[in-house]
Amino acid sequence: MLLNPVLRERMQMLFDLYKAKYPNAPQPKISQTVRSRSDQNKDYAKGRSAPGPIVSNAKSGESLHNYKPALAFDVFFTVDGKYSDDPQLYKALGELAPSVGLEWGGTWKHPDMPHFQPPNYTWEDAAKDVEPTFGPIVAPQQPAIAETLPEAEEPEQEEES
Ligand SMILES: [Zn+2]
Repeated sequence: MLLNPVLRERMQMLFDLYKAKYPNAPQPKISQTVRSRSDQNKDYAKGRSAPGPIVSNAKSGESLHNYKPALAFDVFFTVDGKYSDDPQLYKALGELAPSVGLEWGGTWKHPDMPHFQPPNYTWEDAAKDVEPTFGPIVAPQQPAIAETLPEAEEPEQEEES
């Protein structure tokens, strides 16, 4: 995997923390670290000079995925073997990001739910070879009773506790 080594460590901490908290929920997997500049340009063209909806507002070099090693990673979840875009899953993971000194794209004005990166770090910094800094690790103690996310196949529970 072509990922900044510190970012990779923080990613593993994030995944471990999530697993400890939600052991029975679908676990996150990596969908992207490095995105090549030609792929970035193809994505940028979609909805502009190429058919289809707009999928990216970043031109080549304007994404932390365009640097090697990559300075961002994207995750996905599968439920019953199929890709899931259930925002609840992304939110459960994203809310843990500050505990391991990461920034989650779901908090942005234009949310990018699968995206994680060093806090307050931009592609302009990456282009200038500015090293990323990470927030402190303030991972909470593992809870005595693991919380669970409702599983997709289970009916909604109405009762209040
Ligand atoms: Zn991303």
